Amino acid sequence: MRVRVDPGVCVGAGLCVLRVPGMFDQDDTDGTVVLLRADPDPGEEDAVLKTVTSCPSGALQLDR
Ligand code: SF4
Repeated sequence: MRVRVDPGVCVGAGLCVLRVPGMFDQDDTDGTVVLLRADPDPGEEDAVLKTVTSCPSGALQLDR
């Protein structure tokens, strides 16, 4: 599982940062998503899956 992000469509809601803070951050200036790490640890996979499916803008995608 690998995560891709598209900051161009992110609305900066911050849900991903709250759910998986080790993988996502927000840009200091506009709040859009910053991917810190593309590969979830095994213990993070469920949270990543839920986060990707609940992102309100569709800015997160998974490659499996
Ligand atoms: S949950 Fe989606 S819209 Fe919200 S900050 Fe993360 S990528 Fe952007």
